[in-house]
Amino acid sequence: MERPPSPGLFIEQRTDESLTRATAALAQAAGTAARLEAELLLEQCSGWSRTSQRAWPERRLDPATATAFAAQLGRRLDGEPIAYIRGTQAFWTLELRVTPATLIPRPETELLVETALARGPADRASVLDLGTGSGAIALAVASERPHWRVTATDRSSAALAVARANRDRLGLDLDLLASDWLATIAPRSCDLILSNPPYIDGADPHLDQGDLRFEPRNALTPGADGLAAIRAILADARRCLRPGGWLMVEHGYDQGAAARTLFNAAGLVEVATLNDLAGLDRVTLGRR
Ligand code: GLN
Repeated sequence: MERPPSPGLFIEQRTDESLTRATAALAQAAGTAARLEAELLLEQCSGWSRTSQRAWPERRLDPATATAFAAQLGRRLDGEPIAYIRGTQAFWTLELRVTPATLIPRPETELLVETALARGPADRASVLDLGTGSGAIALAVASERPHWRVTATDRSSAALAVARANRDRLGLDLDLLASDWLATIAPRSCDLILSNPPYIDGADPHLDQGDLRFEPRNALTPGADGLAAIRAILADARRCLRPGGWLMVEHGYDQGAAARTLFNAAGLVEVATLNDLAGLDRVTLGRR
């Protein structure tokens, strides 16, 4: 297929044939997810759900749909993540708006949500999500525990605007706060502190490859050393936690041992690392 794809390839063409064409074009960019991505893009352009695309394979794309589909396909072929093209990403039970101002929520981050729900206080609690981005973690937790008071922080006002829009659209209760990690948080004010901070080493070549190129660099990497943001959070964690309160942080698959060392050095107890669905170290937790 020529690039950018011409709308003429899709105008008045059948749904199934259009998807086959788009899937073939995407095979290199999107690998095994090519068909899924083609369906997600067509869903975005046509309003036809993926189920409806299968139920009516003979339905033809009108010129407006075909033109939008060709344009979105071209963006994906240039490497842009599908979540930014669609402007939305599923996380937990929620459909979240995402923009290039925010990290795209990842499925492995649902482990942090599960852990917070499983180990957080049964009754009322004061919960922080540091570096919330789109608001994914905070909103997932707020949707499951309406009696918790959840506050989402970010240093980036653009990210906070996305989190606010998601909160308002979902009708969930969430406080938003501009803060550089725990700098502005009162002593002994939190029962649960959650974060998926940037944790990729600044020299990691993956930052310049694939979908990561399009995400905010400071949401992916803290700079030179992948543990710097976790260290910054730990510097204030004990001060901000109430006695018995938990800190739970996502990190890279090879950072579990280092994270536990840092948690212990910060005076937290019951320190442990949990594995994600792929069996990889993903979340370390400890309590005051
Ligand atoms: N899990 C992401 C990745 O490896 C990184 C997100 C982060 O740094 N918090 O692509």
